[in-house]
Amino acid sequence: MYPNVQLYINGQWRDAADGRSIAVVNPANGETLGSVAHADIADLDEALAAAQQGFDTWRKVSAFDRYKVMRKAGELMRERADHIARLMTLEQGKPLAEARAETLAAADIIDWLAEEGRRSYGRIVPSRAQGIEQRVISEPVGPVAAFTPWNFPINQVVRKLSSALAAGCSIIVKAPEETPASPAELIRAFADAGVPAGVIGLVYGVPADISGYLIPHPVIRKVTFTGSTPVGKQLAAMAGQHMKPATMELGGHAPAMVFADADVEKAVQLLVASKFRNAGQVCVSPTRFLVQREVFETFLNRFVELAGKVKVGNGLEEGVTMGPLANGRRAPALQALVDDARAKGATVHLGGKAIDGPGYFFAPTVISGLNTGMRLMNEEPFGPVALIVPFDTLDEVIAEANRLPFGLASYAFTASSKTAQALSDRVEAGMLSINHLGIGLPETPFGGIKDSGHGSEGGTEAIQAYLVTKLVTHLG
Ligand code: NAD
Repeated sequence: MYPNVQLYINGQWRDAADGRSIAVVNPANGETLGSVAHADIADLDEALAAAQQGFDTWRKVSAFDRYKVMRKAGELMRERADHIARLMTLEQGKPLAEARAETLAAADIIDWLAEEGRRSYGRIVPSRAQGIEQRVISEPVGPVAAFTPWNFPINQVVRKLSSALAAGCSIIVKAPEETPASPAELIRAFADAGVPAGVIGLVYGVPADISGYLIPHPVIRKVTFTGSTPVGKQLAAMAGQHMKPATMELGGHAPAMVFADADVEKAVQLLVASKFRNAGQVCVSPTRFLVQREVFETFLNRFVELAGKVKVGNGLEEGVTMGPLANGRRAPALQALVDDARAKGATVHLGGKAIDGPGYFFAPTVISGLNTGMRLMNEEPFGPVALIVPFDTLDEVIAEANRLPFGLASYAFTASSKTAQALSDRVEAGMLSINHLGIGLPETPFGGIKDSGHGSEGGTEAIQAYLVTKLVTHLG
């Protein structure tokens, strides 16, 4: 049932001009599922010409009509959710329930951004002299180049795509080669809903070759990327050289601060579920669990107990709560991080290694006895690894939360409003969620600061990133 995934260029689904393709592998068993077309320069040139034409068409469509087409795409995602979720689990590995939730969440994101596009208001600035009208207008920035990763094959595309379309931009998406079929179904929903030819392009290939060609190209006016910090810095630098605005959603190393006055049982339950979702391959995954010393042992023991109940297996199987890692690169990378910590004296309470057999499985892992000289305490594990670290004072935990160059998500559990206020004032992060897990809704900002990137992929800010401001001052 897995397709050979094609490119979508100028309203046509087709193979690459030179017929090249790349194999797609099922991470749960290592078997080849199918293939994805590999775009070359000729394909990219066609996508760019189409994106320019598509922009000229789409920017003239009223925000109200764009909204209607987008809402229809959202409905198609809901209707097709079972089929799309299955493709996602096959290619990415996550449990079917998570794949389904991601597909349905995409529909909500489309709806919200479609509606928000109708509220891209301008303003009138009072003038200094009679007869002058000063209008501030928001206009779409132009054709967008978007680069998205394999961890949330649909979610990472839909935020960029929906924001761009709602603002009146065209977009070329370079979707992930490892998980190509589910994002292609997202594009299909928009195409079937009636988005005109050229407004959306979908390509796959060698990521560095495609970004190196699209970003400097004069047709492209905006760049957006989700992925690792080193790659994000390269792409942001390239965009800067060509004076193109860029949204960068990069890595994190989220602190989850648990204070002694918190509901510790609730905190453990929420944090275990959050840590092992998508096998920890989540940019906002809680990673450093900073626990006040009075409740450290209780937290650690219960965390290990619940993490031990995570059912690892093929995401298509009933009852599985954690699938494999999405590709063969992650397990050796995680192993190196865990081995480094162990060699430097850390205690591995659970897991700590890949699971034997076919597929890219890594055991849920819980580690304590850590120090800041260990790689794990500094590098994003991007896997099912929880680091549990004690602290004594508020100042100490805030210093640890802010120690790293990352600043994406952060979490805290406390019954004290004074502590909550201090955290909201002093934690350096794009997002802070206190006493619940509340990050990632379409209507709230989503993004990081410092090395975690810039720009937002949620809330009103998401659309702003695809708009430019024009002043028209008119003496009538
Ligand atoms: P990677 O850094 O090579 O790639 C990350 C993503 O960027 C992939 O989707 C890849 O296709 C893309 N990419 C890489 N080089 C590119 C280029 N020159 N131009 C355009 N796109 C490019 O590493 P990886 O092995 O795929 O993932 C490892 C790390 O990436 C993880 O440890 C994690 O830190 C990060 N990552 C973050 C997210 C996120 O949601 N922020 C998602 C996936 C991966």
